[in-house]
Amino acid sequence: MLLLVLNGNILDKVVQNSQANGLPNIAVSDCQGKFLNLLAKTMGAKRVLKIGTLGGYSTIWMARALPDDSKVITCEVDDEHAKVAQENINTAGLADRIEIIKGPALNSIHKLGVTPFDLVFIDANKEQNLDYFTEAKRLVRKGGVITVDNVVWFGKVADPSIVDENTEGIRDLLKSIQGDEEVEASTICTAGERGFDGFIYALRR
Ligand code: MG
Repeated sequence: MLLLVLNGNILDKVVQNSQANGLPNIAVSDCQGKFLNLLAKTMGAKRVLKIGTLGGYSTIWMARALPDDSKVITCEVDDEHAKVAQENINTAGLADRIEIIKGPALNSIHKLGVTPFDLVFIDANKEQNLDYFTEAKRLVRKGGVITVDNVVWFGKVADPSIVDENTEGIRDLLKSIQGDEEVEASTICTAGERGFDGFIYALRR
């Protein structure tokens, strides 16, 4: 709560507008948003890619950390989510800095140019996590960072009796990263009002 007060009421408005439009309550928390903001700031990031926009909450947190000549590209498959996200981005005064690309994210990022990104945040459908991560490695610069949300998944990844496609998608990514020479990675556990979860933090070699 304190963070929201410190950051003014723009982020409150973003949350309220997303709720009013019936978006699912699955955005990152305010503390996680601030973490992403600080990560972008610490890196001096100027190009950020977000996979999975929803209402744009974490995208806005990251964009607020960037200088004027920076760019955030965010991919969203759902037209209604993209519409609400654009409203929220406009409310935040960041329309010049954030571009929403509508459509399946893999299609969208295949078409991106060769200018590398400093930071990629993956927080979309979990069954395609490994595909997204593979593309992120192609798109991020050496020394850049790829983060992935929801990789502990309330502990489900450690329960072999759970084999739904989301959990399996997270496991596929975790197994792949273990032997991946192109990144150095760790998992940062998170806890909040919706339970416990975690981020992957991967440094591109
Ligand atoms: Mg998430």
